Amino acid sequence: MSENTKIQMKTPLVEMDGDEMTRILWRMIKDTLLLPYVDLKTEYYDLGLENRDKTDDRVTVESAEATKKYGVAVKCATITPNAARVEEYGLKEMWKSPNGTIRAKIGGTVFRTPILVKGITPFVPAWTKPITIARHAYGDVYMNAEMRVPAGAKAELVVTKADGTEERRTIHDFETPGIIQGIHNVDKSISDFARSCFNYALDTCQDLWFATKDTISKTYDHRFKDIFQEIYDAEYREKFEDAGIEYFYTLIDDAVARVMRSEGGFIWACKNYDGDVMSDMVSTAYGSLSMMTSVLVSPEGVYEYEAAHGTVQRHYYKYLKGEKTSTNPIATILAWTGALKKRGELDALPDLVLFAETLEKATIRTVEDGVMTGDLAGMSTLPNVRRADSEEFLLAIKERLDAAL
Ligand code: NAP
Ligand code: MG
Repeated sequence: MSENTKIQMKTPLVEMDGDEMTRILWRMIKDTLLLPYVDLKTEYYDLGLENRDKTDDRVTVESAEATKKYGVAVKCATITPNAARVEEYGLKEMWKSPNGTIRAKIGGTVFRTPILVKGITPFVPAWTKPITIARHAYGDVYMNAEMRVPAGAKAELVVTKADGTEERRTIHDFETPGIIQGIHNVDKSISDFARSCFNYALDTCQDLWFATKDTISKTYDHRFKDIFQEIYDAEYREKFEDAGIEYFYTLIDDAVARVMRSEGGFIWACKNYDGDVMSDMVSTAYGSLSMMTSVLVSPEGVYEYEAAHGTVQRHYYKYLKGEKTSTNPIATILAWTGALKKRGELDALPDLVLFAETLEKATIRTVEDGVMTGDLAGMSTLPNVRRADSEEFLLAIKERLDAAL
C-alpha cells in the first residue's frame, strides 16, 4: 500500500516498548503486519531496561501519564529486575516492576483472556469459549497484618475512630498458642473494581459473574456483594439489559461448580486471592501461557493492552547466539489489535477496527491451517502441523492478511 492508501489514525496510541525476545518480536510485528497497512500514529516510550535505568525509571511514569492522557496503550513485556538483572545490566538500582508502576498510576483491573484456536483443546473440554478472569488487585491478604499469639493472650479487633472513640470485637481468647491476621479493603477500590468489570463486560458484550464467601463473611465479603449490586442497579442495569448481557452474583462455591460445567464466554470477577489462584488454574486449563492476553482497564475507561507472558528470556539468549527461535508472537499481536480496535472505536474509525479484526482472524487462521510456533506445535492435535520459526510464522500470517484485505 502507498502512504496515502494506508489506514489513517487520529489519536496516537501510547506505545511501550520492552525487553529481550518480545522486543525483537515487537519490531518484527510492526514491520511485517502493521506499518505496511496502517499509517501508525504512536507516542513511543522505550521501557527497555537500559532506558529505564538511563532515565531513572521516569520513562515508565511518563508512559503511564501519557496513557491517562490519550486513553489507550499497548505494552511489550518488560524485565522486572532482580539481583541477577542488576548485575547483567549494571543497573543503578533494582527498579520496580513497570506493570506495578503503571497500575499504581492508572488504577483499575487486569482482565486476562485465553486465545482459543482449533487443534488445541483445553483440559476442560466443555470450555469452548474463553473465560476472562478479572482480579481485584488491592488489599485483603496481600496487605495484611499478622501475628503469632502466645497462650493466655486475648486478641481483639480495635478501631479507633476520628473522634477518638473505640469499637472492639473479640477475635479469640487463646488458651493455647496460635495465629491472627488483620486484613482490610476500602469502598473506593471495590467500587472502582466493580465499574471496571461492568464497563469491560459491556465493551466485550459478555456476562459478568461475581462471587465471594458472603455467607461466612457477613460483613467483609458481604460489602463486596453490596457495592457491586448498588453500582449495578444505579448505573448499569439498563445498559446490560440493552446489550442483552447479564450480571449475577453467587456464592464462590457455586461459582466454581458452574464454571467447571460452563462452556466459557463470560467474565469472572474475583477478589484478590481468588483471582490470584483461579487465574493460574484457568490459564493452565486453556493450555499455554503464550496464548493469554491481558488488558488493564481503569474505572474511567483507560485501556492498556499486553501479552500475559514475559520477555521469553531463554529464547532471547538463543537469538543472541544467532539461532532461529520459534517464539510465539500471538499474544503480542493481539495486544496490538486490541489497542488498535479500541482506538478505532473511540475515534470512530471503522477501517481501523476492521483492519484489527482482520489481522486477528488471519493470525488464528494461520494456526488453524497448521502453521505454528514450537510451543503450539507440541500441543496441536491437527493432522498436518508445520513448525515455523517466528519470522516464517509472521510471514504466513501476512499472506493470509493480504488475502483477506
Ligand atoms: P516468560 O517470559 O513468560 O517465559 C517462560 C517460559 O514460557 C519460556 O521460557 C517459554 O518456555 C515459555 N513461553 C512464554 N512465552 C512464550 C512465547 N511467546 N512463545 C514461546 N514460549 C513462551 O517468563 P520468564 O522467563 O519467567 O520471565 C522472563 C522475564 O519476563 C523476567 O525478567 C520477568 O520479569 C519478565 N516478565 C514480564 C512480564 C510482563 O511484562 N508482563 C510478565 C511476566 C514476566 P520454553 O523456554 O520452554 O520454550
Ligand atoms: Mg498466582
